[in-house]
Amino acid sequence: MNENSVDFAVAAAELGVPLQSDQIAAFEAYAALLLEWNERFNLLGPAAAAALWSRHFLDALTVVRGLPAQVDDNPTRVLDVGTGAGIPGIPMQIAFPQWEVTLLEVTNKKVHFLELATRELGLRHAQVAQGRAEDLAHVDMHREAYDLCVARAVAHTSALVELTLPIVARGGYAILYKGMTALSEEIQDAEPARVILGAAAPSVIPISMGGDDARSLVRYLKTSRTPSALPRRAGVPEQRALTAADGSRIAAAAQAARERRQKLRERPRRRT
Ligand code: SAM
Repeated sequence: MNENSVDFAVAAAELGVPLQSDQIAAFEAYAALLLEWNERFNLLGPAAAAALWSRHFLDALTVVRGLPAQVDDNPTRVLDVGTGAGIPGIPMQIAFPQWEVTLLEVTNKKVHFLELATRELGLRHAQVAQGRAEDLAHVDMHREAYDLCVARAVAHTSALVELTLPIVARGGYAILYKGMTALSEEIQDAEPARVILGAAAPSVIPISMGGDDARSLVRYLKTSRTPSALPRRAGVPEQRALTAADGSRIAAAAQAARERRQKLRERPRRRT
């Protein structure tokens, strides 16, 4: 163990995530890989590399503050949208080895790094998926299939609500890692999307990381099914937030499709 990993292990235990020596060794190996590959691929940027342990690994594990007690004992299907070099997904997979974490990333070089890192770290339950959340959410095996979907530093809240909630099963959570700047406005802007996509009003859980960098988790509980038309096509959620008028249009189109199907079922069969 080195000085960074000792401090990290103490802070993780204080957070309620005690780590065994093999898990701390896995974090050290992950840090070494990140620093080595950061030079070649600029995965994190220099500022992020300096704060790897205190800022990134620990921040990833704060997810436990947003989860009901005991959830870490259950097998949990987790998807990390826009994982980049694996944060928060890889720290979560190391800390909770019984979870099945899917790391979703669109960029080739980052996907290459994620495949190498999960292999070298022996993360047997981790999967790497390449693509955009807007597309993955329309694939049957991923749609409404995850207990938990997380996203950190990917987009503003209204876009993230549209990118994450279609992937979450009813009764599961989308948890967004957010700074506090203009957070209430972002959450307010995401309200029409939240209602249309089928989640309860969010809880905001403040996270103190010891410095003046205030952070929070924004947690959405999925309560009803997401209309099949959502998410919209790649790029649109970030360009334009869903509005109440979109919700009415989507509901009317779904109702018309149901009526068409009903009419087809009721049509008298032709005698042969
Ligand atoms: N979550 C990581 C972190 O906290 O360090 C990475 C953050 S990085 C600023 C955002 C990442 O999200 C990029 O690697 C980008 O390629 C990816 N991304 C952006 N939009 C995406 C989408 N719609 N689907 C999947 N990945 C996306």
